[in-house]
Amino acid sequence: MQNKIENLLKKVGQFKPATINEVEEFRIKLLGKKGELTALFEEFKSLSGEQKREIGKAINELKNKTLAKINELKESLDSLSDATEMGIDMSRPASERHIGSRHPISLVKNQIVNIFSRLGFTTADGPEIEDDWHVFSALNFPPEHPARDMQDTFFVEKDPDILLRTHTSSIQVRVMQNQRPPIRVVCPGRVFRNEAISYRAHCIFHQVEGLYIDEGVSFADLKQTILYFAKEMFGEDATIRMRPSYFPFTEPSAEVDVSCNLCGGKGCNVCKGTGWLEIMGCGMVDPNVLEACGIDSHKYSGFAFGMGVERIAMLKYGVKDLRLYFENDIRFLQQFEAIY
Ligand SMILES: [Zn+2]
Repeated sequence: MQNKIENLLKKVGQFKPATINEVEEFRIKLLGKKGELTALFEEFKSLSGEQKREIGKAINELKNKTLAKINELKESLDSLSDATEMGIDMSRPASERHIGSRHPISLVKNQIVNIFSRLGFTTADGPEIEDDWHVFSALNFPPEHPARDMQDTFFVEKDPDILLRTHTSSIQVRVMQNQRPPIRVVCPGRVFRNEAISYRAHCIFHQVEGLYIDEGVSFADLKQTILYFAKEMFGEDATIRMRPSYFPFTEPSAEVDVSCNLCGGKGCNVCKGTGWLEIMGCGMVDPNVLEACGIDSHKYSGFAFGMGVERIAMLKYGVKDLRLYFENDIRFLQQFEAIY
């Protein structure tokens, strides 16, 4: 028996196949049901206890060496053959690749910008760190206005005042200073306010504001523009209503509500039973603002509007906790598909 083991060891050592089929044949010849090594194991069973101790180690070593050799040969031959022969399992699922998706705020912001671009509005950008003039003075904020207070505004420097912009209207001021009418722009961007962070307030949020200045622009143009936006954003059945309001930089001013698309106007939790959802503020640009930016208010008129991107995203996706937009939790972000 010792001889048989040594002969087989030799055989295994000398085996040099050219194809993977030969390896498989070799495996069956040795380890198959009627294989030589299998037969040897059968023989081993009939040995006496003492003989078993002698032979056991050798026969196990033979088996391990045979298996190792077969595996090694299979692997090296695999890499030489083509895909099918290599034994690559083509039906095996590919390893997953995470390519990411757009942030819900970016999705909604892009959608807003797209809707207005179809009406001829271009996009303007501006700095997040601004001076008092572009954020407040040019926009007709009186010196004692509470928005200028430390409570609401993050100041970088005092006298002269440098601050983080509290709204993107500062971009509109820059556009009016640098372009002559007709002006049609939307200004998306981050804004900063000194607020305690909670589910419904954050110190950073996003706005898209719009500005349209030309000869003979009226409140009717404003209303039609907003109605078009509401239908594009919330569906063809959307209607709007305007409520009188006050902003320093527009006169007259209005808050815009869109009909609640969740309950069809009947009243639900989201619209608090009113059938309406507040979406933005707007109004006719105050002549003082036009004059401050060097535009003749007797010749030109215009309208402006501004909305919070988080607010629109909340209405679109039903995400009511503002903090989720800033935490970058991958489980939250994965739920949004890149549609724009
Ligand atoms: Zn509702």
